[in-house]
Amino acid sequence: EAKQTGKNKDVYYSPEMRTALRQTQEIKHILHTACEEDGFYLLFQPQIDVATEKVYCYEALLRLKNDALSPAQFIPIAEESELMITIGRIVATKAVEQLVSWREAGIALVPIALNFSPKQINDKDYATFLKQLLDKHHLQANLIEIEFTESILINNDEEATKLFQNFLAAGIQLALDDFGTGYSSIRYLTFIPVNKIKLDKSFVDIFLQDGKESFIENIIRLAHSLNKKIIVEGVEEEAQYLKLKHSNCDYIQGYYFSKPIRGDQVQH
Ligand code: C2E
Ligand code: MG
Ligand code: MG
Ligand code: MG
Repeated sequence: EAKQTGKNKDVYYSPEMRTALRQTQEIKHILHTACEEDGFYLLFQPQIDVATEKVYCYEALLRLKNDALSPAQFIPIAEESELMITIGRIVATKAVEQLVSWREAGIALVPIALNFSPKQINDKDYATFLKQLLDKHHLQANLIEIEFTESILINNDEEATKLFQNFLAAGIQLALDDFGTGYSSIRYLTFIPVNKIKLDKSFVDIFLQDGKESFIENIIRLAHSLNKKIIVEGVEEEAQYLKLKHSNCDYIQGYYFSKPIRGDQVQH
């Protein structure tokens, strides 16, 4: 009987699996609707230049307007389908619109960093799309930075290299996100064409404890020896900030300086 219609296929799943499947379907539905009905918005978290203590970049962080789900809940599900590609373009469009609004408000422009899912590697024209969007509004390409994680390189070496070339040829900057969570291959660091490495919060929580700071100091030294800047994310306390400053960390991002804020809360 279950074979009769596609809809009945889930009778083969356990109750737990069925619940998970239903939740996934519901989230996909929420995301589809959000794509069609302008249901997303961006928050912006400042990245601080340690030398000047000024904002030098904002990371765009995606939110649902009804705040029903966090990105940690919906990004992995978006990544299971082509939804991530649609969402990736929505994020790029909104970021460029924000740059335009800031310019209109007379705010000195600083770059916006966009998170780039490995799934978006299938969006072959993404770099061109972004570049055209920037050109249309007479914005310099270096006002956008792309944050990707090293997972994009796994099994994708050649495609990833092509992708990076497309971004760099367009004048768009690249950063390596969440370093310290995956394989954190030192070998990758020697050849990926990024000028900025973001150390993940989980890493910071461990290595900014008393007696363990030399590890971070050495990672920063390593990055500098490869001519790369280091930004540490998830900095929540002054003591952490001071240790990082002392270790020659270039940039920091975290609640200590600011939570993610709305674009219209930005003033310079
Ligand atoms: P991520 O790129 O590593 O972004 C940093 C996350 O850490 C953000 O969470 C930010 O709000 C949070 N955070 C910043 N400072 C602190 C701090 O001091 N303490 C703590 N506990 N957390 C801090 P958020 O916005 O929930 O985003 C989570 C992840 O979702 C992001 O991690 C990113 O991987 C993904 N994501 C968010 N927006 C997008 C997007 O537009 N596209 C894609 N592909 N992924 C996105
Ligand atoms: Mg990021
Ligand atoms: Mg990160
Ligand atoms: Mg992270």
